[in-house]
Amino acid sequence: ARRAATSVTKTVCTYCGVGCSFDVMTRGREVLKVQPQQEGPANAISTCVKGKFGWDYVNADDRLTTPLIREDGRFREASWEEALALVAERMRAVLESHGPAGIATIASSKATNEDAYLTQKLARQVFRSHNIDNCSRYCQSPATQGLFRTVGHGGDAGSISDIERAALVLCVGTNTEQAHPVIAARVKRAQKVGGHQLVVVDLREHELAQRADLFVRPNPGTDLVWLSAVTKHVIDNGWQDEAFLAERVNGWDAYVASLEPFTLEYAEQRTGIASDVLVDLARRIAEAESVAALWAMGVTQHSAGSDTSTAISNLLLVTGNYGRPGTGAYPLRGHNNVQGCSDFGCVNDYLPGYQPVTDPEVVAKFEKAWGTELSTEKGLDNHTMITAIHDGTLRAMVVVGEELSLVDANAHYVQEALEKLDFLVVSELFFSRTCEFADVVLPAAASLEKDGTFVNTERRVQRLNKAMDPVGQARPDWKILTDIASAMGHEWGYEHPSQVMDEAASLTPLFAGVSYDRLEGYASLQWPVAEDGTDTPLLYTERFHFPDGNARLYPLEFTEPSDQADDEYPLHVNNGRVLEHFHEGNMTLRSAGLSSKVPDTYVEMTRRDAARYGGLRTGDWVELESRRGSITLRVLLSDQVRDGEVWVPMQAVELNLLTSEVSDEATHTPAYKELAARVRRV
Ligand code: SF4
Repeated sequence: ARRAATSVTKTVCTYCGVGCSFDVMTRGREVLKVQPQQEGPANAISTCVKGKFGWDYVNADDRLTTPLIREDGRFREASWEEALALVAERMRAVLESHGPAGIATIASSKATNEDAYLTQKLARQVFRSHNIDNCSRYCQSPATQGLFRTVGHGGDAGSISDIERAALVLCVGTNTEQAHPVIAARVKRAQKVGGHQLVVVDLREHELAQRADLFVRPNPGTDLVWLSAVTKHVIDNGWQDEAFLAERVNGWDAYVASLEPFTLEYAEQRTGIASDVLVDLARRIAEAESVAALWAMGVTQHSAGSDTSTAISNLLLVTGNYGRPGTGAYPLRGHNNVQGCSDFGCVNDYLPGYQPVTDPEVVAKFEKAWGTELSTEKGLDNHTMITAIHDGTLRAMVVVGEELSLVDANAHYVQEALEKLDFLVVSELFFSRTCEFADVVLPAAASLEKDGTFVNTERRVQRLNKAMDPVGQARPDWKILTDIASAMGHEWGYEHPSQVMDEAASLTPLFAGVSYDRLEGYASLQWPVAEDGTDTPLLYTERFHFPDGNARLYPLEFTEPSDQADDEYPLHVNNGRVLEHFHEGNMTLRSAGLSSKVPDTYVEMTRRDAARYGGLRTGDWVELESRRGSITLRVLLSDQVRDGEVWVPMQAVELNLLTSEVSDEATHTPAYKELAARVRRV
């Protein structure tokens, strides 16, 4: 037999929001090597272990290769024609019986922008519903909200190169070294070679905290308090950037009045951070030539996630840290395309490019383009969708590549809801836990098997190119969505994702100049992109994204976190990523180079707590029990956590059987990080 030729294809990493680009060498379906190039705009010649070794999942034995239909409680293989006809028939029936409110759609933050655009088009044009959302609801929606309130755009203020350039990098609630490793590498290089300062504020003393010039450890759920106290101290001492505030920022008086309760004494008592440390922190930030603030789920996954994100942005505004190289707000996006998925309209309140569904002019534009009538009322987000299923108003769902049954908080409640649906369609790479609740499962193509674009954390649109054909009968999501629309009588006629991007660009000022021609090879564009192709590496150099061009200080109050540790449940449970795995591990646990390093999950606890709970040792099995459920996992004794606090990595564990449905008021992002539990040896 003739051996397949070796191909070299430029792609973009399918894991985190850093968005590393590289060449992948393949022979047939075999992935031979990943080779980053100097031109990689986010990473140059770097990748982390996931980008290098995380590709075996593409050829895993249990990839879905044919459509599946549930019949008499069991799944059987079906043809695409049969599966699509069934989807169309059942969706039509729900539309007739319950109207557009009866259907909701969830997009995949791992799929491409073109997949995302068509997911929301299916929801809006075909199902006539704004009930559409994506997993940014589970992670960075509060950060976006904080930036919408204060500076206008929800995306990162500048580029990864600005983070590297900052005289002081402030990391809050982000384990950057494990979750966004290539950014962490650049921060460490700037610290080591350039003498830049690194300040880390987090619960856990992870590697980046150990390297910090200043590491600060607040009590759980109190970030808003220390941020407000530090900002107040800056102002009380006249260290604010007067000229910047006078020229470019509104809302000073009301904001300063709102800071009154946040004295150093109160902050010390509530956060546990000593006053002199707060003063040191304030002085360092005020004196630094430029400050870039990075944050992640340690901030956002709280009931005050939006307010705490807003407090970070307030601090940056007060100290004049926007609109210059090396400054700005950088909420680090988790999934490879969680930024793009929201950018391209997979949210319940915005059409593509953050054009509000409540704006009649915007709605009229899309109605004309799509030949359909659209509502001007917001739809359900993916948290409220679950309540609507329990209420009986939501009856059918299309879920594109989201492990819905495990990733939303209070998974018992979510799984009970999925049981109640009249009809559930899931498009997936593997038979996930969510597929167990489905009526039809459609096999989807992996990123190496399709063309498209992703947007990384710095708003950078990049091309990925097809390196191999989809496995079996799997299809790229853009094609699956086009086929569902066609089965329901809407002929979209796309032959290639470039046509989808052309349509999206024509309707979306944010991406007006984005085209595949301008994204050849390693070329990339950071939004907003003008029609002539001019992009925007650094936002707010002249104007903030509000009608008068000025930023807005936003007054805040502190609200106590939910589910705090008490006598019955004395341990605070924190959670996060490890370097080798991505979220629930669907892809990384199927990649030998990663799963061999960290094959299992565990709960980290201090030696003192381990002694207190029965002399536990590393490797012992324990039950971790919250007010809602319990899980069993091994103990790992650790110096990175504090007494009374434990930490659990997210892979291979049904952690959300423990978490509560309490969420951030502004965005409904679950308060995953507000969790009390107890342990018991099993
Ligand atoms: Fe880069 Fe993130 Fe992929 Fe690692 S996981 S290679 S840091 S994009």
